[in-house]
Amino acid sequence: MNWSAWEHFLDTQPAFRQRQLNHAVFQELVTDWSAVSVLPLKERQWLEVNCPLDINYTLSGQDADPAQKARITLRDGLIIETVVIHHETGRQTVCLSSQAGCPLGCAFCQTGQQGFRRNLKAGEIVEQALLWQRLLAPQGKHIHNLVFMGMGEPLLNLAEVIRAIEWLHNSMALDIGWRHIAISTVGLRPQLKDLLNYGEQIKIAWSLHAPSDNLRNKLMPVNHHHSLMALKPIFRDYVVRTNRRLMVEYLLLDHFNDSLEEAEELAIFLADFPKNLLLINLLNYNPGVGNFYPSSGSAREAFAVFLEKRGYKVTTRLSLGQDILGACGQLSW
Ligand code: SF4
Repeated sequence: MNWSAWEHFLDTQPAFRQRQLNHAVFQELVTDWSAVSVLPLKERQWLEVNCPLDINYTLSGQDADPAQKARITLRDGLIIETVVIHHETGRQTVCLSSQAGCPLGCAFCQTGQQGFRRNLKAGEIVEQALLWQRLLAPQGKHIHNLVFMGMGEPLLNLAEVIRAIEWLHNSMALDIGWRHIAISTVGLRPQLKDLLNYGEQIKIAWSLHAPSDNLRNKLMPVNHHHSLMALKPIFRDYVVRTNRRLMVEYLLLDHFNDSLEEAEELAIFLADFPKNLLLINLLNYNPGVGNFYPSSGSAREAFAVFLEKRGYKVTTRLSLGQDILGACGQLSW
């Protein structure tokens, strides 16, 4: 969707017509302006040319699978990917991309290894969620959660990410509650402060992946410029000031960062945070990039138990979507 054209057009319309148009796009999920009969023909034709609703995509995975991936071809031919996770509870989480590719080059990440093409427009982010809504609705399902954990680093495209989430939250659009929207970031100054000062109650996840700068430097080149020690006070101030929970993402890599010594280092590194406001999310590595291997089940268990004994709340995220190359770190263009 051409976001600017759409916004411009809406601004020219009276309030009742704006509601009708949003209802058509986000509730009726029309894919063609010709179906919006409340609009005069001339305006439908203008929208068809300037703000087309069709989305060019291919789908991997079936409705009954735990995860599905869509490869969307943008208007300029670039390809991005987005994933939906079908939880056993019947809820759906959609993983959104914020960039085509990513310039940060994390060693474990397919997207990062492929390089960077460009930032996505807000409309191209909204479009990913809109596509899933169109695919879920006929099954009587809808999106419950949105997470920015797809392609790209959201802080490198923060203005468009914020525009997109404000639209997705809008009650006239997808009406996703703020607490059901999460942004995951490696942490970049100064944009991090802008994100953490954002007034709405979105969830924040810090992609940590190592307990020390020494180790993180080997995984994530960005750490040379935005070190753990520099970022920690910013995240800690956020947690203390807002009393909101911070998710800490930690990708467990066999014999790289998954020993009990590293668990101890992590416990010490995080000791400055109020423990009740931290959630450590241990991720499984999805093979494909770099000379890494997933941690063994026993190492994962021992790592989690160690942290829990130190008083931290720990979850182990199931790795869904490996078979469709749609799991964490596997998205590509
Ligand atoms: S893990 Fe995230 S920040 Fe790192 S290269 Fe991949 S997409 Fe970029």
